[in-house]
Order: sequence, then structure tokens, then C-alpha cells
Amino acid sequence: MEWGEAERALRAEMVDCARRLWQRGLVTGSSGNISAKMEDGAILVTPSGRSLERLRESDIVHLRHDGTPLLAAARPSSELPLHLSAYRVRPDAKYIVHTHPTACVTWSLRGRLFPRVTVGAMESLGAVGWVPYAPAGSAKLADSAAEIFARGVDAILMERHGLSTLAATLERAFILTDLAEESARIALGSTLSLPTDPSEQGKRNLGDEGVPMPPHRAIF
Ligand SMILES: [Zn+2]
Repeated sequence: MEWGEAERALRAEMVDCARRLWQRGLVTGSSGNISAKMEDGAILVTPSGRSLERLRESDIVHLRHDGTPLLAAARPSSELPLHLSAYRVRPDAKYIVHTHPTACVTWSLRGRLFPRVTVGAMESLGAVGWVPYAPAGSAKLADSAAEIFARGVDAILMERHGLSTLAATLERAFILTDLAEESARIALGSTLSLPTDPSEQGKRNLGDEGVPMPPHRAIF
């Protein structure tokens, strides 16, 4: 299938972003997906069940305005409803990045947003929205996410699941994701509390078999 120049450039940009998300550890296995909205309203989205590590330009699925694939056999990401509903409520969004960053998800297990503790997060991340748990790929999840995106936030934390960001450029959607995970990771580290009594400290550092363990083992 022949791609126009704009589509070719978008596909290349998405492959590059996919690789960076993988390299930064923001996705694992076949998790995570990326989409881009073209000038004519059509959408490009990463395929279902493929690792972003090895995404190829030809793997990316082209969807018509109504969300159906141009090629009937194509299998778009199972998280497509989330992307479509977000584009519906945010006409300014041109790209959406959905990931499973470990520290962000860890905070969500505590039933709360991660604190925005770094200068980068405070200055560049902006507000992060909270989306209560709903099954992955469900219409309920897509609706809840759209409701929060509609309030103007560009990043949402999805309980027990992951993070989604939207932006007018793919670079910004990537940076928001990376910043959120950095902030969540540092905030997790700052919750470490070690006993001030050195004898207690010694006990804390002994593992189950009495083998000395590195400090900071017990985080929670
Ligand atoms: Zn997901």
C-alpha cells in the first residue's frame, strides 16, 4: 500500500517513539500503544499484541474517520477505544501515548496519584488526572479517561494499569510520560524510612537467612 509523504513521516516518528519508550522501560512485553491523528482526521495506531521494541512502520494500522481499519485484516491496539474517545473530547490532541510505567502504576495501587516532586514535573508535567479501575480496552475505561481529558489535563493515571498522555506533538507526549515516571520513581524513593538507631539499622539489613542485605530493601 502506498503511503503519502505525511503518513510516511508520521509512521517513522511513531516507530522512533516506540523504541524510546521501550528503551526507557516505560513499556514491557506487548504493552503500550501510540496513535497519531492525520490532517484528514484518519488515525494511525500501533497494532495489537506486538512489542513496541520491534515495531515496524508497516505494522502501524491506518483507521478511517469512523475508527475502522482501512485494511480489514489489520488488528489495531486493543486500547483503541481509549484513543478514539480522547481525540473526540480533545480536538487539540494530535498524538496519544499509552504506557505501563512501573512507578506510576505502583502509586496507583495505593489509590492515589504520585506526588509531583521534581522540578521538571512541577514545571513541565502539569496536572495529572486520576482514572478509577476499569478493565483494559473497555468502553468504561475509555469513557472515564475521556471525561478526565475533557477537563484539560494532558496526562492521566489509570488505576492498576498505566499512564496515558496526549499532546500536539509526539515529542511532548513522550516527555510527559517520561517526566511522570521519573517523578513517581523519585517520590517512591523518598518514602524510604530507615531507623535512626544503628542497632535497628543492622537488624533491618539482615535478610531472612541472616544474610546481610543492602539497605533500602524494605520499601513498603
Ligand atoms: Zn494498557
